Amino acid sequence: MRAEVIAIGDELTSGQRLDTNSRWISAELALLGIPVVFHTTACDTLAAGVEAFRAAVDRADVVIATGGLGPTADDLTREVLAEMAGAPLELVPEAVIAIESRFARRGMPMPESNRRQAMLPRGSRLIANPTGTAPGIDLECEKANGGTARVFSLPGVPSEMHIMWRESVQPALQAMQPEGGTIRFRCLKCFGAGESAIEEMLPDLIRRGREPAVGITAHEATITLRIAARGVDEAACEAAIAPVEATIRECLGPLVFGTGDDDVEDAAVRSLLAAGQTLASIEIGTAGRVAALFAQAMARLTGRDRTSAVAVGYRGGHVLVPEQTPQGDTHASMLAERARSEFGTAIGLGIGAERPAADGRRAIDITVADADGTRTIEHVMGGGPALTLARAAKTAVDLVRYRLREAESS
Ligand code: AMP
Ligand code: MG
Repeated sequence: MRAEVIAIGDELTSGQRLDTNSRWISAELALLGIPVVFHTTACDTLAAGVEAFRAAVDRADVVIATGGLGPTADDLTREVLAEMAGAPLELVPEAVIAIESRFARRGMPMPESNRRQAMLPRGSRLIANPTGTAPGIDLECEKANGGTARVFSLPGVPSEMHIMWRESVQPALQAMQPEGGTIRFRCLKCFGAGESAIEEMLPDLIRRGREPAVGITAHEATITLRIAARGVDEAACEAAIAPVEATIRECLGPLVFGTGDDDVEDAAVRSLLAAGQTLASIEIGTAGRVAALFAQAMARLTGRDRTSAVAVGYRGGHVLVPEQTPQGDTHASMLAERARSEFGTAIGLGIGAERPAADGRRAIDITVADADGTRTIEHVMGGGPALTLARAAKTAVDLVRYRLREAESS
């Protein structure tokens, strides 16, 4: 069973609003073991709606649509579905009663325009909306080459849609595939090498058509390897994922710093806390990003309850502006030692001012210092203007993670 997800609305196609419904629905479909092969976004015209549904019905077995079910003249999904079904719109008494009673509970008469929301294509089924006025529509549509696709059309308001999914659509989909099944994902996060370099280190795992499938994406220099497995249940998926995960970890070694939503700073702070170590930073070339990453990760990982105050972890840092920093005080190693002594921490991190590198590019020095000595790396700035600082800051954070790894294994 293959699914397509359609999002409808001018506010989406014009870029005014982000389509979060399709993302949510696709994740839900995956849990039910139903792969999504297309996302389509259509504007609020009859022609665009019909074109979108026509294509979806022809190439998928299940179509889930959101949007266009409001009471106003710009919401046309009912008309689109009537055209798809080749059936007229009919007033459904059950729907009129449900809408009227929603207004009655607020002590208001139903505006005439809301009557439109009770019009459903003949032969379709109503999907009850417990928290809003627009009922959803469940209908079969014929494919061009024979056969049918099942269409579920839901309102665009996310909170209403979520409830209707749980109460009506999800059980209907489960009934359509009694054999069950699920798709599960494991995300392995890597830092310290580029996308293509990482792919080259892996033995042909990213080739299309492999099961489990492995995908690779990059965000602010953090690489995510996403393993997707289909199976009868979660345990079967886990069993399929485990050997692939083991292979990736073996091939990439310390480049893999975590799983799920973690980023490098979470991994670094987790190691700091686990080792009972303290850290402080003084940065110039990263403009406060390093302090922000560590402070935010500390807040996430130590939670709201600070009463059992954490004596360990990131203690704080200074951000210096290069123009105001005396010459000679801008060396990363000096900054790292100063951080240690000023904050009284075991580890100090220093990030020097940007300077020309050998090949005409720009570079910064990053030093991590502790009782065993100092380690300095030269980081060449790059990755485009939007990414330069993020990459540099994460590189500094990652140096702390490596230092803690070394300390642990020595
Ligand atoms: P509609 O059902 O078209 O009247 O949509 C009602 C409201 O839901 C819109 O004004 C949007 O704010 C929101 N909405 C519609 N579609 C989406 C979507 N795909 N993702 C997130 N929000 C949406
Ligand atoms: Mg709309």
